[in-house]
Amino acid sequence: MIEVNNNFEQLPVSYLFSEVGRKVAAFKEKHPGREVIRMDIGDVTKPLFPSVIKAMHEAVDELGSAERFHGYGPEQGYSFLREAIAEYDYQRRGIHVEPSDIFVSDGAKSDIGNLGDIYSRNCKVAVMNPAYPVYVDDSVIDGRAGVLENGIWSNLIYLKCDANNGFLPELPDVRPDVIFLCFPNNPTGVGISKSQLKEWVDFAREQGVLIIFDSAYEAFVREPNIVRSIYEIDGAEEVAIEIRSFSKTAGFTGLRCGYTVVPRQLKGVYADGKEVALNTLWNRRQTTKFNGASYVAQKGAAAIYTPEGRADVIKATDYYLGNAALIRQAMTEKGFLAFGGENSPYVWAKGAEGADSWKVFEEMLNNFGFSTTPGSGFGSQGDGYIRLTGFNSRENTEKAMRKLTE
Ligand code: PLP
Repeated sequence: MIEVNNNFEQLPVSYLFSEVGRKVAAFKEKHPGREVIRMDIGDVTKPLFPSVIKAMHEAVDELGSAERFHGYGPEQGYSFLREAIAEYDYQRRGIHVEPSDIFVSDGAKSDIGNLGDIYSRNCKVAVMNPAYPVYVDDSVIDGRAGVLENGIWSNLIYLKCDANNGFLPELPDVRPDVIFLCFPNNPTGVGISKSQLKEWVDFAREQGVLIIFDSAYEAFVREPNIVRSIYEIDGAEEVAIEIRSFSKTAGFTGLRCGYTVVPRQLKGVYADGKEVALNTLWNRRQTTKFNGASYVAQKGAAAIYTPEGRADVIKATDYYLGNAALIRQAMTEKGFLAFGGENSPYVWAKGAEGADSWKVFEEMLNNFGFSTTPGSGFGSQGDGYIRLTGFNSRENTEKAMRKLTE
């Protein structure tokens, strides 16, 4: 037998979502007449926009026609989509990003992991705590996390986020090589202001650190001072990669498409001291290991940038933001300390003093009939909190919040 990647043995099994599902099923069995509203879902519930569907139908017809057929496409993405992204997501907002800096993907999760191919195995990685669990798990699989002791990986640097710092981490005392930042954050729903993010960019520039900025939820930002792109900060193009997704922006969770920006100015260094552009390495990585997103998905994504598509993005994200605002208001009214729910579809709420996340989860389920996501699943600092999402329907959100406040 072949020797396998030993790092998988260390990777803890993630029970979070299966355990939530199991507890909800057990509750329903015990209380057959009671409805459970899923306020834990991290997936969109609205269908794709008509403009996206139309564009994809046309793309399918093209693939079925001898004259207009497309075979293998560019692994970096079709220029029609890269140009639309550069223009609408960056240039029209006063940010200089070139189409050649943009790499279309099948979604953000893949790129978060795949980027680990271009920085050294020896790089020390910093993660926010709590955060989207994929940053830690990828670091484990790639052998950068060290060993797990009392829930803490020995080689990772944890950027502590809590109620005292408003879930905005402070700069680390120890220099990391790579820092994962995610704003607006999942699970806390907290966004970052330009002046706050500038401190991170300045730190990265001084210390020669790479920031991987996950802005999967940028489309939910409404306040002008809250950052949508790290490239709003001067000099970020020399230190940061930005990862984006159409999943929550335009309901692409079933279709899959996103993109990553690797600016040409961003440099790294080989062990022999020779400099190299990260764009060159990522291009090589993608052309070798990635097939590219499908033509049909990319045509659908391009439709998001038409006038109709752009209006639909605002309408859909406004709808989920409206749900999140209702949740935040109801939770606050009920006396919970709540974060997020503004510029983000997530609300992050603290349970009673001393109660762990699963206890808070059980209380919400038993007392008010809705499920939440235990915050401990996002890191040790998440314990005692729950995440509620604005991704359910307005009707269900209102119903759940009425049960809470009545
Ligand atoms: N980044 C964050 C912070 C997320 O919450 C998610 C999905 O939940 C992703 C990335 C993954 O996005 P995608 O659906 O594009 O893979």
